[in-house]
Amino acid sequence: MATKQFKAESKRLLDLMINSIYTHKEIFLRELISNASDATDKLYYNAMKEGKTGITRDSLPIELTLDKANRRFIIEDHGCGMTAEEMENNLGTIAHSGSLAFKNENEKQDDIDIIGQFGVGFYAAFMVAKHVEVVSRAAGSDEANRWESDGADGYTVAPCEKAENGTKIVLTIKDNTENENYDEFLEPYRIQGLVKKYSDYIRYPIKMDMTRSRMKEKPADAGDDYKPEWEEYTENETLNSMVPIWKKSKKELKDEDYNSFYTQKFYDYQPPLCHIHSSVEGAVTYTAMLFIPSHAPMDYYTKDYEKGLQLYSNGVLIMDKCADLLPDHFSFVHGMVDTADLSLNISREMLQHDRHLKAIAQSLEKKIKSELLKMQKDKREDYEKFWAAFGRQIKYGAYVEYGAHKELLQDLLMYHSSTEDKLVSLAEYASRMKEDQKYIYYACGETIDKIKLLPVMETLSDKGYEVLCMDDSIDEFCVKMLAKYNDKEFKSIADADLGLDSEDEKEEIKKLSEDNKDVLEALGKALEGKVKKVELTSRLKSHPCCLRAEGPVTLEMEKVLNQQAAV
Ligand code: ADP
Ligand code: MG
Repeated sequence: MATKQFKAESKRLLDLMINSIYTHKEIFLRELISNASDATDKLYYNAMKEGKTGITRDSLPIELTLDKANRRFIIEDHGCGMTAEEMENNLGTIAHSGSLAFKNENEKQDDIDIIGQFGVGFYAAFMVAKHVEVVSRAAGSDEANRWESDGADGYTVAPCEKAENGTKIVLTIKDNTENENYDEFLEPYRIQGLVKKYSDYIRYPIKMDMTRSRMKEKPADAGDDYKPEWEEYTENETLNSMVPIWKKSKKELKDEDYNSFYTQKFYDYQPPLCHIHSSVEGAVTYTAMLFIPSHAPMDYYTKDYEKGLQLYSNGVLIMDKCADLLPDHFSFVHGMVDTADLSLNISREMLQHDRHLKAIAQSLEKKIKSELLKMQKDKREDYEKFWAAFGRQIKYGAYVEYGAHKELLQDLLMYHSSTEDKLVSLAEYASRMKEDQKYIYYACGETIDKIKLLPVMETLSDKGYEVLCMDDSIDEFCVKMLAKYNDKEFKSIADADLGLDSEDEKEEIKKLSEDNKDVLEALGKALEGKVKKVELTSRLKSHPCCLRAEGPVTLEMEKVLNQQAAV
């Protein structure tokens, strides 16, 4: 039986495409500029292949023109252009990508950064334009053609005049409706912003006339009462930075470069504590530039905070906050990842579940950790700043998921020391443990000062044992989840058995308790309803008594749990 071809209701299909692929109308500019860049790449690439010299990327700008009065937005490139036939195939056939074909034909040649692949981006123009005109002349041909369309109703192609090779796309921007504003796409500053956002790293200059104002020069014969005057002037400006800073070599970049990039890009008024700049080649190939801020943003510990890294594919922004690239415990990290290895979905806004993305995320997590450890070792002051800002998030990370991130996070933890007036890491604590010391001791309380006054502290400090003082409500939960650090168990100083007494001493306490049974019972009676039991202990020195809880939930934890229950 003969196989039949599917038919498509092309009008409906185009309508679907235009209105449901993209979440934001503004994406049209990214798509048209990407196409212009691809077309220029093809020309540039072919010229290189043929050994033509004298062509530079700078001499092949992508030009934007706004004509507000006529509602026109023009995007013009000096790339490979299209013949009439190519217009039919590429613009008249939905999901046909001339760029993908080009990429496949030239796959084995050097690096080509062609962006297109789905053959639908062009139609994004109809999200904002009521009429689209494409005038194009293929490189090497002296014929030009005009493709025109109002969208779903079809298109026409007819010969026309064009002086140079390349493509000129003229959009007639839709009129505003009650719910939709289209005028914004005729505003130079809005367009400049969109270029910066999505196409900053396109490798050809994207140029547009920008009107600015400046102070007029003071005339030589101006009197004392001269008032400065302003004038407007227009300049053809390059809107994009072209070379992504992360593609530059580390040798070329100074700390100031990283810092100013960070403060501008992430709207922070303070430089970051550190940056990580790395290019990885292998199973996954990517370049990443990450920053650790010096302070937590206002909304950091609220549910409004959105974690994520910027994700670029061939220099084009795909996602502003790709959450999958950062684990929650490192959600404070800012930065970007650029990789050509992604399987993008058709809108290029979302990603398919991607194993490359997972691999990149894992590799970044390791890098962030080792950078933090380095800071902890070599730049303690910076690390303390980091800890003050984001320590809580790290502790939380060690606590949640039943300590699944224990190995990863435990070395980043810091606590106040009872013997030194500063923060110490678990590794530092462990390295200072006395030979006979069985446990890592910790004490919890409202403030560090109050903890240091706890009765039992005296006994431990007499033995030369250091105690980790914890004043954050999550601390004890976190430590319980860790249970051990390098084979040494954590022990709360509120625990019944601190592991300090020898067998003889235990016997003695037992005997004393027997001998003084009456006194203990009398005390218990007197405090009935307030305490469960009164017993003798060897853990006190100058203090007559102390409180402790029985079982795994300590008094401090009980307080936190009660608070939570009350919420
Ligand atoms: P994609 O870019 O994913 O291939 P598009 O719908 O954006 O899909 O574009 C379809 C095709 O039209 C491109 O593959 C390319 O062959 C052609 N094209 C689009 N814009 C231009 C342009 N400015 N110059 C030359 N060819 C273009
Ligand atoms: Mg495209």
